[in-house]
Amino acid sequence: MSFSLAIVGRPNVGKSTLFNRLVGRRLALVDDQPGVTRDLREGEAKLIDLRFTVIDTAGLEEATDESLQGRMRKLTERAVDMADVCLFMIDARAGILPADEVFAEILRKRAKHVILAANKAEGHAGEGGFLEAYSLGLGEPMRISAEHGEGMGELYDILRPLADGYDERAQAEAPEVDVELTEEEQELGEEAGVSRDFTAEKPLQICVVGRPNAGKSTLINKLLGEERLLTGPEAGITRDSISVTMNWNNTPVRVFDTAGMRKKAKVQEKLEKLSVADGLRAVKFAEVVVVLLDVSIPFEQQDLRIADLAEREGRAVVIAVNKWDEETDKSNKAKELREEFTRLLPQLRGAQLVTVSAKTGKNLDKLEEAILYAHQVWNRRVPTAKLNTWLSAMTEAHPPPAPGGRRIKLRYMTQVKARPPQFVVMCSHPDELNASYKRYLVNGLRADFDMPGTPIRLFFRSQA
Ligand code: GDP
Ligand code: GDP
Repeated sequence: MSFSLAIVGRPNVGKSTLFNRLVGRRLALVDDQPGVTRDLREGEAKLIDLRFTVIDTAGLEEATDESLQGRMRKLTERAVDMADVCLFMIDARAGILPADEVFAEILRKRAKHVILAANKAEGHAGEGGFLEAYSLGLGEPMRISAEHGEGMGELYDILRPLADGYDERAQAEAPEVDVELTEEEQELGEEAGVSRDFTAEKPLQICVVGRPNAGKSTLINKLLGEERLLTGPEAGITRDSISVTMNWNNTPVRVFDTAGMRKKAKVQEKLEKLSVADGLRAVKFAEVVVVLLDVSIPFEQQDLRIADLAEREGRAVVIAVNKWDEETDKSNKAKELREEFTRLLPQLRGAQLVTVSAKTGKNLDKLEEAILYAHQVWNRRVPTAKLNTWLSAMTEAHPPPAPGGRRIKLRYMTQVKARPPQFVVMCSHPDELNASYKRYLVNGLRADFDMPGTPIRLFFRSQA
């Protein structure tokens, strides 16, 4: 099971409202052991792709007499002790009351981790109370509106790293939920090399793919020849491939050389088929895929297939057009290549196209820059607050469709992963959103957050 979150605070601040929002109809557990009061409610919460247990202390009337106050305190203490994380809720419209101070003290003493949430913060009526919340000595408050679902993306951002800490087991035994990533989504969203430890500085992994004779071996050799090797050839991912680590601009880069695999393929029959399979294998291990074309026969079926495959695998892609030294009409050819690229590979819009000569080494510095940049974009993370400001502007400029007269509401969005950038938009009736509106949003993300040429995954979910 994943972590647990207790929602605590005085009556009427909105605890149940948040509980219900997080749990929906998935109220799983009721505390009905003999001798235990039913004052604590537990449920399985779902927030975008996070699953956790939420504990609610609501259900008490306003504490007017001593005994009730005592009970409330006990209940809160119990919840705090049970939970990994406490969400301490205040009412931003009412401001800080003496009762809030009592809770704050319990939390300061007992809680492992506190999230301070100023609820009812929709509109501006909560600004004063929000600012007062700083005085509780529990760190920076966040604005939420349990009733309107505001601040859920920010809450997600806070819980995500905590969840990762409690994670391993949770990942293994995914709880049953009503909305899960489809297999296809999971595949698309799979981060390259998740199993690797990114805290250590890992080399950027690239591979060079392309049809036979495009110049892959020549390119790799040239790149290596001009670089100081950090390490010698290492045993590769597969028996037939080797990888070599170089250093570009202080960035360690590892190239998978698939030549071995390819040579083996050559002696067999279905050459074309096998080279695509080789490409696929290389692509799986790479972060950035360099699709190498031969300028005399660019954008052949096989090139297109492999570029598309790299995109579908969620890799950053750079197109390199090789044998540029042989081209006599360079300026016209360059223009033509760009047009073809846009027309034939619209899914890679904005990806860089570099003309090179593996043989002479011309423009290999530009290729290196393009690879490093593509990698940066692929790793980009956009803060939730920015995304939501952006989403409001986008929906205002172009409201989502209203099938059957009922307008689809896009409520909020957040980036759940990078490598490649992956976003989830919470909305009403996600199934009815059409492709052109989705495209509008994806293209907007590319343009407004500077994410050219990287696969972008945008998923739509109904409200948690
Ligand atoms: P609890 O006693 O802390 O569980 O509070 P409830 O969830 O029962 O909410 C108390 C009252 O506050 C109810 O009338 C809710 O409708 C209202 N409420 C809850 N969240 C919000 C919010 O985000 N904005 C506003 N304006 N009212 C809210
Ligand atoms: P691979 O099958 O993709 O690994 O291609 P190779 O690296 O074996 O190269 C195929 C042929 O293209 C060889 O004859 C190379 O010398 C030639 N070649 C590779 N790069 C260039 C280049 O930039 N310019 C020219 N003119 N020839 C090249």
